[in-house]
Amino acid sequence: MKEQSKLSLNQLISDLDKMFPNARCELDYNNLFELIIAVSLSSQTTDKRVNEVTKVLFSKYPTYNDLAKANIYEVEEILKPLGMNKVKAKNIIELSKKLIIKNKMPETLEELMELDGVGRKCANVILSEYYKIPSIAVDTHVLRTSNRLGLASGSVLEVEKKLMKKFDKKDWYFIHIHLVFLGRYVCKAKNKECAKCLINGCPSRFI
Ligand code: SF4
Repeated sequence: MKEQSKLSLNQLISDLDKMFPNARCELDYNNLFELIIAVSLSSQTTDKRVNEVTKVLFSKYPTYNDLAKANIYEVEEILKPLGMNKVKAKNIIELSKKLIIKNKMPETLEELMELDGVGRKCANVILSEYYKIPSIAVDTHVLRTSNRLGLASGSVLEVEKKLMKKFDKKDWYFIHIHLVFLGRYVCKAKNKECAKCLINGCPSRFI
C-alpha cells in the first residue's frame, strides 16, 4: 500500500476541512442515554431516519426507566422504518434494563460494549462524541474511504489501529467524522463523485 507522507496527511486534513467545514455527528440527542440509543439504532440505516424515529421514541419513553418497562411490540412498531426493528427493539429494552441494574452510566469502551446492540464502533462514537475522548470509530464509510485513500486496509480493528497510529491523537475525532462525511456524501460505495472531490493526491481518483 502506498504510504502517505506527513505533508500529505496534513494536506488531507486541510482538504477535508475545506470540503466539510461543518462536519459533526448528525444524530439528534439531548443526553447520554439518548445518544446511546440513537447510535445503537443507526446500523444499516441513515441518521436522518434514526432522528425521525427517536423523536417519537423519546417522547414516549424519555428515560431508560421508561424504556425498560416498554411493551416490546409497541417499540418494534416505532422502530419499523429503521429495518431490523425486532432485534433493535429487544436490544434497546435490554440495554435499558442493564442501565437500571448497573445504576451507573457507562464511561469506558468496555462498559459501553457490555450493553446490548453496542459494538466497538458504537462505543467509540459515544466515547468521542459525548466524553470527548479521542477515538476513531470505523464504520462502513471510514473503512471504504481509508482504503481508497490508501490510508489503511484490513479488518475494522486493523483500520482503527492503523489510523490511530498514522494520525496525531488530537486529530482522531476530526478524521473519524470527516471520513464519515466523505464516504456519506462524496466517496460513496457506488457512484463515487471524484469530479467534485477536493482531496489532493487520492490514489483511487477515477479508478
Ligand atoms: S478522489 Fe474519488 S476515490 Fe478519492 S476520495 Fe475523492 S471521491 Fe473518493
